[in-house]
Amino acid sequence: MTNPIFKRVLLKVSGEALMGNQGFGIDVAVADRIASDIADVRAMGVEIGIVVGGGNIFRGVAVASKGGERVTGDHMGMLGTVINALALATSLRKLNVDTVVLSAIAMPEICESFSQRATRAHLDAGRVVIFAGGTGNPFFTTDSAAALRAAEIGAEAIFKGTQVDGIYSADPKKVPDATRFDSLTHHEVLQRGLQVMDVAAVAVARENNIPIIVFSIHERAGFGQIMAGAGRRTIVTE
Ligand code: UDP
Repeated sequence: MTNPIFKRVLLKVSGEALMGNQGFGIDVAVADRIASDIADVRAMGVEIGIVVGGGNIFRGVAVASKGGERVTGDHMGMLGTVINALALATSLRKLNVDTVVLSAIAMPEICESFSQRATRAHLDAGRVVIFAGGTGNPFFTTDSAAALRAAEIGAEAIFKGTQVDGIYSADPKKVPDATRFDSLTHHEVLQRGLQVMDVAAVAVARENNIPIIVFSIHERAGFGQIMAGAGRRTIVTE
């Protein structure tokens, strides 16, 4: 079996990824497919924490843009991430992957609450840990939660699964001759304003010296290929 290039990683799965081609919600077949890629990487012996987004269900700015209170909207968005976390956990458990959901917002009847100590114990025991509820605070994003959790669990890299296979000079879906970067520094990402993760997330990753690997979440087995040292991706390092 191929040796993985990292021992412990943080994977960010956006809500949009779980939506598939639907306009809203979760496409179970897509969640199952992403789960099977995660199961393959777990089988390589990699310890995996996952932060799930919620954009397929709700974004706080949608409430604010219609005159509602942003904080309430963000609470709704964070609850959306819990729904996604439960869906992805269900897909992983169908594949017999031992999985636990930890929420930044306490809801003990539904899942465990996040703490760094509990997380490390679950990871040490070989469980896949799904982080729900983002950072638990309004005005943040699940990208920031991904960088934060990566630092807290001592992840060696953040894997940001996106709709395309890396960071491009412009949106490749709109600009046909946009070029893909093989590698960049955190500073270059911030300076060029490249749309990878939000600024706060990139800053936390840089501060803690955590590389960000941007890859296509829709490429079957792509996560495992990168973990084996191959595959298409952009790597952001110091
Ligand atoms: N959110 C929040 N605090 C956080 C993480 C998320 O308030 O720490 C809210 C925010 O309203 C956001 C929504 O949850 O729009 C969904 O998260 P995000 O937009 O990051 O999801 P993704 O784009 O990854 O699907």
